[in-house]
Amino acid sequence: KVVTRFAPSPTGFLHIGGARTALFNWLFAKHHGGEFLLRIEDTDRKRSTDEAVAAIYDGMSWLGLDHDGEVVHQYARRDRHVEVAEQLLAEGKAYYCYCSQEELQEMRDKARAEGRPLKYDGRWRDRPASDAPEGVAPVVRFKAPQEGEQVIDDHVQGKVTVANEQLDDMILLRADGSPTYMLSVVVDDHDMGVTHVIRGDDHLTNAFRQAQLIKAIGWDLPEYAHIPLIHGSDGAKLSKRHGALGVDAYRDMGYLTSALKNYLLRLGWAHGDDEIISEEQAIEWFSLEGIGKSPARFDFAKLENLNGHYMREVESNDSLAAHIRGRVENAIERPLTDDEMAMLVATMDEFKPRAKNLNELAESTLFLFAKRPLSLVPKAEKLLTDDARAMLDKLVVQLEAIDNWELEALEEEIQSFAQVQDLKLGKIAQPLRAALTGSNMSPGIYDVLIWLGKDESLARIRDQVA
Ligand code: GLU
Repeated sequence: KVVTRFAPSPTGFLHIGGARTALFNWLFAKHHGGEFLLRIEDTDRKRSTDEAVAAIYDGMSWLGLDHDGEVVHQYARRDRHVEVAEQLLAEGKAYYCYCSQEELQEMRDKARAEGRPLKYDGRWRDRPASDAPEGVAPVVRFKAPQEGEQVIDDHVQGKVTVANEQLDDMILLRADGSPTYMLSVVVDDHDMGVTHVIRGDDHLTNAFRQAQLIKAIGWDLPEYAHIPLIHGSDGAKLSKRHGALGVDAYRDMGYLTSALKNYLLRLGWAHGDDEIISEEQAIEWFSLEGIGKSPARFDFAKLENLNGHYMREVESNDSLAAHIRGRVENAIERPLTDDEMAMLVATMDEFKPRAKNLNELAESTLFLFAKRPLSLVPKAEKLLTDDARAMLDKLVVQLEAIDNWELEALEEEIQSFAQVQDLKLGKIAQPLRAALTGSNMSPGIYDVLIWLGKDESLARIRDQVA
């Protein structure tokens, strides 16, 4: 059975790269009918925060990336991590290192002078316990193999190899007894039964060390897929300016989860030339082999296009209305009634072609729920001249007489009114629009009359006559 996991460190928001990693893991598990687990890597106590954990849950639930089983909190499992280190000590696969800070500094200086990275020289690897200096708390180091190599047959990167000689004896337990990140990841992945590790390729170098450790313990290596990181549109590493924001920022900007997920999926994964990919198709088609080898570039314009497409072509009117409900209610500071919700749904065909995102869509509907008397934009104010107000005063009497408030009756009444008054239709429609919407621009005036209904329409007109 396939088991994947998403293992974020809760040190900031759930950023777009993390969301993509989570999505890939989720899709891969779903594709194989497996499990997708969530592990919060909160061992860095100084940098981990509750807000960041909440942001991860929040972002994942917004994206609909539901995880299986209980969330694993890495810090809570530290006793188990220590236990594994002690087991390795007992088996002679790890050792106490009493190296002082000064000695390490010397090694570091030497490495720097020789222009190579620091490599612990293994000086305590084979020293007897009797050599241990008094009063020094040791760290526990892994007795890494010194010959041979680590080969990782990565599903994205291909076969990658590192000579063991390049890797030093990493620390498993710090002097205060706390387990290191490298040990914790290995133990947790094993205990959680993770079969496939899909993560950013900034972790590829860790994978070699983790592989050494896994083999020494005697466990099986998981399959690996290290995904190239997301870059900005200019090819540089993704920064805030490029869109390296939390997923909550994308929600606030009015993107649909369906569109954002489709975008993230295509960011680094391809299925032929398909651009619009439904969730069902994504689950059916997802494979690690489809992940690109070079970094994908984040492209806001493309995301915006996709979002527009999903708003116009994919999402139903019911779903769109449900998506903007909260935004509308926030703006008008009251809940919508069922009738108003039904009206909102009915307006979607009219408004969605013009909106790029949910914020704009919500915004365009607000006049429907505005409090009377409406406040008018300056251009609407200008339309409502004394003559226009006098005209509306007469029109309202005609409209009042309409029993069936429907398109046909409304058209008939307004057209005959135009004839009798000898006015061009526009001379009626424009002031009427101003009175009904508070604006000089809106969808067709008959639509507006029907959406608002008879009572509200007449009341809004009368507000401008009085
Ligand atoms: N906690 C790591 C991170 O946030 C991920 C570790 C892993 O996936 O193995 O980058």
